[in-house]
Amino acid sequence: MRAIVFNSVGQIALEERPVPEPGYKEILIETAAVGICGTDTTVLDGEFEGTVFPLVPGHEATVKIVALGEGVNDGVFDFKVGDHVAVNPSTTCGECELCLNGKQNLCADWNGLGVVASDGACQQFFTAPSRNVYKLQPETDLNEAALIEPLACSIRGWDLLPRELGSHVLVYGAGTMGLMMAQLAPRMGAASVTIIDINEDRLKVAEECGVEHRFTSADDAAREEWDVVIDATGAIPAIEDAVTRIKPGGAFQAFGVAPAEETAKFSPFRLYRGELNFVGSMAVHNSFGRAVEMFEVGALNAKAMLSHSFTLDDYSQALDMFRAGTGRKLQIRPNDTESRELQ
Ligand SMILES: [Zn+2]
Ligand SMILES: [Zn+2]
Repeated sequence: MRAIVFNSVGQIALEERPVPEPGYKEILIETAAVGICGTDTTVLDGEFEGTVFPLVPGHEATVKIVALGEGVNDGVFDFKVGDHVAVNPSTTCGECELCLNGKQNLCADWNGLGVVASDGACQQFFTAPSRNVYKLQPETDLNEAALIEPLACSIRGWDLLPRELGSHVLVYGAGTMGLMMAQLAPRMGAASVTIIDINEDRLKVAEECGVEHRFTSADDAAREEWDVVIDATGAIPAIEDAVTRIKPGGAFQAFGVAPAEETAKFSPFRLYRGELNFVGSMAVHNSFGRAVEMFEVGALNAKAMLSHSFTLDDYSQALDMFRAGTGRKLQIRPNDTESRELQ
């Protein structure tokens, strides 16, 4: 079978590898679709803490079950060959203080498949622990369902955000994550949702996804302050602008991934005087199963969010397109023979 391998910083190869055997409580799966996101380029650029090369990338995957390892169905599971499933890429040490106290996503040995030390989904087949595998309904579009992993991150984000029914919500960034936070906002009780992006094409996608108010600058909005302000860009100028728009008593969430060494300016006086809440949100935590359900009830306009799929041969081209910021969500489909535009 064929696999994309990051051999070292900046080095991508397409390699022939044997199909792996599933071990105890592991499942052998055939990859359908893998979303590309900023984590992939961060890993390739050597900027993700802890990555061990060589590594097969890909952490936003949907797959079909090909074979079950020993013991998979001995407990609560009832997996069958042919089932369509989504894969939660997070694994943790299970032994540290954070893991033992229910904060597994903060484990210092957090290991995302395709991100840290275990191979991910940009290959025709791979194995995953059965506890990381979630069944999909047979009628769910298996390719579109690769949005479930980032949706699980978004649900974690909303789990942590202090808000009340009737909050006005402002989201910075109309990329995949910002669009997800904005589409979930009405389901979290928002009275209004506003999204900001300097790229007008992305605002058009936001419109297709039903986001009510869309601007290239928050200065253009009728409202001056919002109860909940979410940064989904990780860009310092956006964050510095975002924190000035929080209503007293409101909340700000650093949801986008800013470069680890960068700092942003804000007024500690406003934080004190307005009793503002600043919260983070790290990856998936107790949210993957709910993401499957939310996806299957139609919480996202998946069709509007996806634009292109690529074969393994065209992996580098897909990353170039991602870096250029053109297109919408891009996917790799390792068992496809043709790259295509999806709309
Ligand atoms: Zn991702
Ligand atoms: Zn741990």
